[in-house]
Formats: sequence, C-alpha cells, structure tokens
Amino acid sequence: MNTHEDENERKFLRFEALCRQQGLPVTVQRRVVLEAVLARDDHPGADDIYEDVQERIPGVSRTTVYRVLDLLVRLGIITKACHPGAISRFDRNTDLHHHLVCLRCEAVIDVADEQLNTLDLPDTSHLGFEITDFSVQLRGICINCRDGATVGKSNQTSRGAGSVSRSKQEAGTSTKETKDETQPETT
Ligand SMILES: [Zn+2]
Ligand SMILES: [Zn+2]
Repeated sequence: MNTHEDENERKFLRFEALCRQQGLPVTVQRRVVLEAVLARDDHPGADDIYEDVQERIPGVSRTTVYRVLDLLVRLGIITKACHPGAISRFDRNTDLHHHLVCLRCEAVIDVADEQLNTLDLPDTSHLGFEITDFSVQLRGICINCRDGATVGKSNQTSRGAGSVSRSKQEAGTSTKETKDETQPETT
C-alpha cells in the first residue's frame, strides 16, 4: 500500500509551494522534521519528533524542531491533534477525522466516521466563539492496555513541548475540540 507515499509526496510539494509563496527557504531541518512527522502514524509529541530528527541531524536544537513543527501547523501541512497529556501531539493526517484516546497509555488512534463528520455542532456565538474546525475525541482503554500484556512502550514524553496553548480557543464542550486555525505567516 503506497497511498501514504503518494500523500506524503503531495504534502512535500505543497510544503515547497507554500514556502516559496511565503519566501521561506526549504531548509534541511524543515524537510527532515516534516519527513519525521509524515513517517509516523502515532500522533507523536514534539519530543518524539525531536528524537527522530536528532538521529538524522545530530546536534539539531530542540527549539529548532519545535519552531519547525509550529510552522508546519501554521502552514496547514500537519495538524495538532488532541493533547490527552500535557504535551501537544502532531498529526500527519489533515483530513477531517477523529481520535480514540487511550486514558492509560495516551495512544491516539485515527477514526474516520461519516456520522461524526456530519455532527450538528452547537451554536457557540453567545460565547463569542467561532468554531472553525472540530474533531471528536472518544476516550477509553486501547487494546494493548486491555490485554495488559505488552505495555512496554511508554508514551510519557517529557514536558515542555506544547508551548502553544489552545485553551483560550476551547469552548468548554468536552467532546469537541477545535484545531488551530491555519494562518500562514512568516517567521
Ligand atoms: Zn493504551
Ligand atoms: Zn489523527
């Protein structure tokens, strides 16, 4: 199955086009960070990406990786998924989709569901809140944790990643969350 590859290829082209448009150089760091996010389906945190990038660019700074991640989110090439823990999680999948979130290991699993896609959203105008996007979080316990067998992998990435707080954007409904608006701007 190489649909992922095709999709990644398209994302790269879009990324390059957007960079050109905004006069941003396509640096090695930017490329490698994007590749690292696109290579993962597990909604990695910034520190996970930092570790992946470090393998390819030894000595790259954490700040650089975080900045590139934020840039990619602003450009709409990747999204910020829900953040069940204290850290932001990044998502290669920018199509409308939803998440199963494991309360035990913080695994985040994609779910596509037509019914959820067409949910009637509440009117939040009285809160002065404009909904621009949404994604439903279904919380529970994943198969690995239910089996209790193989929970060797710890997702407890250290803090410090998600410096961009979205709480100001959240309307207070527990099942829906808005994603960051993608506002292209130059760094
Ligand atoms: Zn789990
Ligand atoms: Zn996702």
